[in-house]
Amino acid sequence: MIDTHCHLDFENYDDDREEVIRETIEGGVDRMINIGIDESTSIKGLELSEKYENIYASIGYHPHSASEFSKQVQDKLERLAQHPKAVAIGEVGLDYYRNYSPREDQINAFRRQIRLAAEMELPIVVHIREAMEESLKILKEENAGEFGGVLHCFPGSYEDSRRALDMNLMVAFGGTITFNNARAAKVAEKVPLKQIVLETDAPFLTPVPFRGKRNSPLYVHYVYKKLAEIKETDFAELEKKIDKNAVSLFNLS
Ligand SMILES: [Zn+2]
Repeated sequence: MIDTHCHLDFENYDDDREEVIRETIEGGVDRMINIGIDESTSIKGLELSEKYENIYASIGYHPHSASEFSKQVQDKLERLAQHPKAVAIGEVGLDYYRNYSPREDQINAFRRQIRLAAEMELPIVVHIREAMEESLKILKEENAGEFGGVLHCFPGSYEDSRRALDMNLMVAFGGTITFNNARAAKVAEKVPLKQIVLETDAPFLTPVPFRGKRNSPLYVHYVYKKLAEIKETDFAELEKKIDKNAVSLFNLS
């Protein structure tokens, strides 16, 4: 089982990080990708990846921090992304819900990091909130799927997922598919398995039955289980297929 999106460097784990990671690995989640949201979290992700064989890192600037993005930052990210355990660029994207950074800055950071990913021949991890049209447009203009990528915590419709698939982009579902009457679950039902990877976004978006508590990459179990239910397929069979998708998308060993 692979958690393709978590934030183990966040302070939520400062008291018991080692324990959470150990429990997760012992619980059968054998690989995790720690996702950077700025320079320091990207560095912390790499540090974790050096300490634990099972952890990989994604390097990037979240749209929330896009106003801090600059040529200097880009050069630093480029250096970090050369690390052998850096497997992706992200999370990058557009967040027109919170708008913590001006939209112009978000678009600029998004485009520059898509180009960085292409230069580095790495897939991208994309965060989209209330900005699906604009994001898909930019992804297409920048030919973003050249080295693959994933729309994380996929917030779109089935039709949006088709457009992503046409661009060689996958979609990731997380804890939200376990929520009652979840729209994401209905979308997941229709998206072909070959286009899906799974994630937790821990410490956020904790799946049922732990909703409301701190999330852990261990709980990706519940996301796999829910998807197997949605797809009416055998758990072990589904696990094998989904893990294969993640391994090939992120070139995991
Ligand atoms: Zn995230």
